[in-house]
Amino acid sequence: MNDSDTHKIYNWPFLHVTTKNPKLIMLQFKINHNIIYTKDKLKKVNLISNDVCHLCEREKHTIKHMMLKCTYVTLFWNEFFAWWAQITNEKIHLPDSVLLYGPVNLSKHNQVLSLALLVAKYFIYTCNLAEDPHFSRCLNHSSGKTF
Ligand SMILES: [Zn+2]
Repeated sequence: MNDSDTHKIYNWPFLHVTTKNPKLIMLQFKINHNIIYTKDKLKKVNLISNDVCHLCEREKHTIKHMMLKCTYVTLFWNEFFAWWAQITNEKIHLPDSVLLYGPVNLSKHNQVLSLALLVAKYFIYTCNLAEDPHFSRCLNHSSGKTF
């Protein structure tokens, strides 16, 4: 990733034309600046004693784990990719950096994908806040929400 890409990533939550939803924009801002209060950060400042993910209870709860690597989250992303393939006829395999920060090249197509990824990340984030170990139950609770 070069400086220009980094610049685009840091600016896109504000320049993004596909959403004006402040919750979505703020979430991407927090991801970009690594300021989501995951359990590893709370443990570092002695607010909690346990930094293990409360969903899978296997690994350290970091942004990367929370958004990409948790067992429950990987299942969710698989469903997301299956859904995307169904509606677009396009099978995508995105690197972690694109899942986390969004596509750098914002063509019309990528803007739609970018928004879908952002809504997906917001869903993962709210499931984490709810500390619901049954991610699927969280899926059911959130299905009626709109952004
Ligand atoms: Zn986990």
